[in-house]
This record gives sequence, C-alpha cells and structure tokens, in this order.
Amino acid sequence: MNNNNQQININPDDLTDVVCEECGCQVFEPAFLFKKISAVLSPNGKASMIPLNIFKCSDCGHINKEFIPNNKDGKKVL
Ligand SMILES: [Zn+2]
Repeated sequence: MNNNNQQININPDDLTDVVCEECGCQVFEPAFLFKKISAVLSPNGKASMIPLNIFKCSDCGHINKEFIPNNKDGKKVL
C-alpha cells in the first residue's frame, strides 16, 4: 500500500462555488447569531445568550440559508 496515494487531491475546478444568494459575491466574513436560553434549559440554571458563529456575505451582509444551523426541532434559526 502506497500511503502517498492516500491523500485526497482536490481540484478546485471540480468544486461548487458557494456564493451569496442575494448578490453572488463569493467572499464571506464571520458573524454571530445569538440564541437565548431559558433558565430551565441552561446548564447553569440561569437564562443567558449563546453565540452561534455564522458567515455573512461581505458585500451585502446576506446570510445564506445553508449557513444557518438547524435547531433541535429541525427548524431554521432564522
Ligand atoms: Zn451578498
């Protein structure tokens, strides 16, 4: 077995570009969503805010649906 061949060679031309749904921009920058957690659900028994890291379009600020994590009910956060 030749381990040198185990590397996955990814050709960028074979990949699908992720672009902004609104303006087609390919550049994204990090942003945060905040979720409120009630005292009942919170591990420390206190209501608090939980930041979720997400990416937004650097051009128009739009957040693609595919970047938005699902909550435990299977519904979109936004
Ligand atoms: Zn955009």
